[in-house]
Amino acid sequence: MNRVLNSEASRHVGENIKIAGWVNIRRDHGKLVFLDMRDRTGIVQVVCTPKHEEAYKIAERVRPEWVLEIQGVCQKRPEGMTNETPQGSVEVQAQTITILSEAKTPPFPLDTEGYEIEEEKRLRYRYLDLRRERMKRNLVLRHRVIQFMREFLSKEKFVEIETPILSKSTPEGARDYVVPSRLYPGTFYALPQSPQQYKQLLQVAGFERYFQIAQCFRDEDPRADRQPEFTQLDLEMSFTTQEDILNLVERLYTEIVQKLFPEKKIQQNPFPRISYKEAQERWNSDKPDIRKDLKDPNELAFAFIVDFPMFEWKERENRWDAVHHPFTRPQTEDIVAMKKDPGSILAYQYDFVLNGSEIGGGSLRTSNIQVLEAVFEIMGHSKEGMRKQFSHLLEAFSYGVPPHGGMAPGIDRFLAVMLNEPSIREVIAFPKTGDARDPMMASPAEISKEQLKELGIKVVKK
Ligand code: ASP
Repeated sequence: MNRVLNSEASRHVGENIKIAGWVNIRRDHGKLVFLDMRDRTGIVQVVCTPKHEEAYKIAERVRPEWVLEIQGVCQKRPEGMTNETPQGSVEVQAQTITILSEAKTPPFPLDTEGYEIEEEKRLRYRYLDLRRERMKRNLVLRHRVIQFMREFLSKEKFVEIETPILSKSTPEGARDYVVPSRLYPGTFYALPQSPQQYKQLLQVAGFERYFQIAQCFRDEDPRADRQPEFTQLDLEMSFTTQEDILNLVERLYTEIVQKLFPEKKIQQNPFPRISYKEAQERWNSDKPDIRKDLKDPNELAFAFIVDFPMFEWKERENRWDAVHHPFTRPQTEDIVAMKKDPGSILAYQYDFVLNGSEIGGGSLRTSNIQVLEAVFEIMGHSKEGMRKQFSHLLEAFSYGVPPHGGMAPGIDRFLAVMLNEPSIREVIAFPKTGDARDPMMASPAEISKEQLKELGIKVVKK
C-alpha cells in the first residue's frame, strides 16, 4: 500500500489508506484515543478504538513526536466534529499502527511560534526547532524565492556558475576566514567574502551574464543581526549600464512580491533612485525607511541609493578607503583630479534598500587599469603590493575586458523583512548564534593534535 500524504487524505474518503509521520498531539478520551498526525504537508486526525485492539494498545502508549505508520479507513467525521483546518472534515480509523521510532520528550514546545524560547536552546536542538510550523513556512518560502530567482534569471539568459569556496583573500572590507593548506604548510586559503573577483573574471571569460546563489563568509565582530556566513544572489553583466542593472533587479523583485507575497504592497514602482547626498540630507541615513505608513506590515518601500562617494576617510587607519570595494568605477577617469581630492569623487555604486534595511549593493567596475592603480594608490597600497595581491585580475584585464558591473542582493535580510521576522536567523536553516557559535555542532571546536601536526600549526593561547 502506498503512503498517502496528509494533505491528500480528504480525497480518499471511504478508502483504506496508509499515512506516516509524527505524533503532533495525543488526546486520550478513555475508549477513544485521538492522534493528530503531522507530516510535511499538514495534519490529519487519527481515531483509535478498542475495536482494533492492537492498534488501540499502541495508541495508549505513544507520545508526542513518535514516528508512526498508520493504516486504516479514511472517513468523514461525524456531524459537529469537523473543523476548518484543511483536513478538518475527515479522520482515519486506525486498524494497524507501526512504531517507526520512539521519541524523547522535546526540550521545548514545538506547537508555538517559538519566540518565547531561549535562542541558544533552539539552536542547540535546531532539528526540533525546525519542526515548528513557522520555521517550515520560512524555509519553504526561502526555497520558493530562490527557485523564482533561478527561473527568472535563466529566462533572461543568465548562466548560473559556481565559484570556489577555497579561495584567496578578497578585499570586501571584512576579516577573512582562513583555511590552512596541508600540502603547502604555512599557506592559507581564504573563504570568499563574496565571489567578487571570480564573477569579474567570468566577464573577462565572456559569459556576459552570470549569477549564483552564493554563500559568503565574513569574520566580523558580533552584531545582533549578523551571521559569519550569509547567502546572496550574486549577479554580474557585461556591456551594461547602471540603469540596466537596477531595472533588472527592480523587475525581479516586483515579480517576486507579486507571485510569492501577494498580500504585500509595493509603495512605489519604479523604485525611487535617491542620491546618497539626498538620503543623508533628508533622512540622515544611507538606508532610509521611506514608508509612508510605518504601521502597515504589508507596505514595501524599495529604493536604490545611488551616487555614493568613491572614497571615505578612515580616521583610525589614517587613510582613504573605498566605500564599496576598490573595483568600483569612479564617475571620473581624471586621475589627477581623483588624487587631488579623493573625497569629492562619486562612484557608480548603488545600494538596494527595503523598509530601512540594506538588502544589497553593487557597482559598475573599473576595467581601466590606470584608474584601478590610482584607486589602490589613494587607498595607500604600493604599486608593487597591489600587483602582488591582484596580479591575476590585472593580468586578466590586459587580455580584453568588457565593461561590466553587477550587484548582490542578500537573501537572508530580504526574507526576514518579507516575513516580518526580527532576525535573519529565523530564515536560515542552521544559523550561528549572535556571537558566531553553533551550539548544535559545538563549533568552533579544537582539532586533534594529529590534525594540527599535519597542518604544521602550533596553537598559541592568547
Ligand atoms: N561583491 C559585492 C558585495 O558582496 C557586491 C557587488 O559589488 O556585486 O557586497
